[in-house]
Amino acid sequence: MRIIDEANRCLQCKNPMCQQGCPVGTPIPQVIALFRENRLMDAGKLLFDHNPMSLVCSLVCDHMAQCAGHCVLGRKGTPVHFFEIETFISDAYLDRMVVQKPPFNGKTVAVIGSGPAGMTAAILLAKEGYSVTIFEEENRIGGMLQYGIPDFRLPKSILERYKARLIEMGIRIRPHVVMGGDLMIDNPQRDGYACVFIATGVWRPSTLGIQGETLSNVHFGISYLASPGTYSVGETVAVIGMGNVAMDVARTAFRHGARRVMLFQRGSKSPASSHEMESARLDGAEFYFGKSIQRITPEGPVFRASVLNEAGRPVRVAGEEELVRADTTIIAINQRPKDKLVKTTNGLQASERGLLIVDAHNMTTREGVFAAGDVVHGSLTVAHAVRDARNAVEGMMRYMQG
Ligand SMILES: Cc1cc2nc3c(=O)[nH]c(=O)nc-3n(C[C@H](O)[C@H](O)[C@H](O)COP(=O)(O)OP(=O)(O)OC[C@H]3O[C@@H](n4cnc5c(N)ncnc54)[C@H](O)[C@@H]3O)c2cc1C
Ligand code: SF4
Repeated sequence: MRIIDEANRCLQCKNPMCQQGCPVGTPIPQVIALFRENRLMDAGKLLFDHNPMSLVCSLVCDHMAQCAGHCVLGRKGTPVHFFEIETFISDAYLDRMVVQKPPFNGKTVAVIGSGPAGMTAAILLAKEGYSVTIFEEENRIGGMLQYGIPDFRLPKSILERYKARLIEMGIRIRPHVVMGGDLMIDNPQRDGYACVFIATGVWRPSTLGIQGETLSNVHFGISYLASPGTYSVGETVAVIGMGNVAMDVARTAFRHGARRVMLFQRGSKSPASSHEMESARLDGAEFYFGKSIQRITPEGPVFRASVLNEAGRPVRVAGEEELVRADTTIIAINQRPKDKLVKTTNGLQASERGLLIVDAHNMTTREGVFAAGDVVHGSLTVAHAVRDARNAVEGMMRYMQG
């Protein structure tokens, strides 16, 4: 009933601001109109064809910064919570969709990485008759959806359902294959693949470059999130960083035995979404701003106060050192791409930050090799990875059609 009420509140704007706020440009008024006409599967198809990751996005997007945050009803009251309608529709559609396989068009594509960018490209290409093989380093598909975003925000069963659909679409998956290690980019090109698509994300944690990072009580945030059950973090956890990954680390630590979790930020602002920060606060996380990490000891991290400029950014440190006692310190400041592919592929160029350089059609500096998602833009969002992958698919199809 709540979802029907939400759908009925939509004003069906001629110039839908919600659609403009969505990174993928989801045709929100059309979806809601179909839903109101009881055409659930048509609404689901429209969503899936536009954004195969619709169900995931509806659960993990920063809605107040994107679709809901742009709804005109939100200016004076409560915006339409389209994402809840989207969850309902896309959840039903993912299981009930009828997969129609078009005839093979004679071209094969190698997709490296099974995160949202890789899955989106694979699905969109398979729908056009391309034969697609995904090469994935890990044993499970999903990328950061599987190994980063915690289960309490995104149930992993959703990814198993996606896997079943991918297989039904004729997409082949080769797990445990490291491209740039076990196989090289040259190999699929040698074996007749018409295009290679790199969607390998950002999996190398940024380090602080300070003393103590190798101590046994220090871990990296994304490594911890990949398998929190294998770590013993103790009762008191200090998290260095205050972005979305740090929020997930804090909330996960509480669910794995921590009683006190403190997060530290050098400046005066958190880069995390307000929703994620509030959720962490509700779980009991404590936030400390203006703290510059100096080193990490077996007893915990050591800080000095940051001196901030008018924008709240740290310009230098001042005052005495302060030890914060913690059983474990988790560094969650940022991620970069691993450099295996760039190091092993002639002509594949990356920026200073290790991000792959692409043209307007997402082709890399290597002929016939395309890239999209976090490996191109750095850590962004699922919706941005989908948008980027869609652009790459258009580029690849133009390329393959000559
Ligand atoms: C903890 C955390 C929480 C997040 N929360 C949100 C959120 O709430 N909302 C949101 O929108 N976004 C969130 N994000 C960001 C989002 O998950 C990413 O932007 C998105 O997953 C990027 O997709 P991708 O396909 O580019 O890369 P990834 O999801 O990183 O997938 C890359 C895939 O490539 C594989 N791979 C890497 N190298 C190789 C290789 N050499 N050979 C073969 N395979 C390889 C990896 O194993 C992985 O499966 C979060 C990220 C993290 C880390
Ligand atoms: S994809 Fe994300 S931003 Fe776009 S409509 Fe769905 S939930 Fe909103």
